[in-house]
Amino acid sequence: MKVVLDQDKCIGSGQCVLSAPEVFDQRDDDGIAVLLAQPADAGTEEGTREAARICPALAITVAE
Ligand code: SF4
Repeated sequence: MKVVLDQDKCIGSGQCVLSAPEVFDQRDDDGIAVLLAQPADAGTEEGTREAARICPALAITVAE
């Protein structure tokens, strides 16, 4: 799995951090998401797929 985050689309809503805190964090100053790491196990991959599904800005792309 490879995750791509488009920070230009992100609106800082934070759902991705709730779904996959190992993969996503938010910048302190403006809340825009940052990619911490690629998912390293099946549970984290599922959380990452969920993040891509629920991101309101469609800023997360997952390639299997
Ligand atoms: S869920 Fe989408 S819009 Fe919200 S912080 Fe994450 S990447 Fe940004």
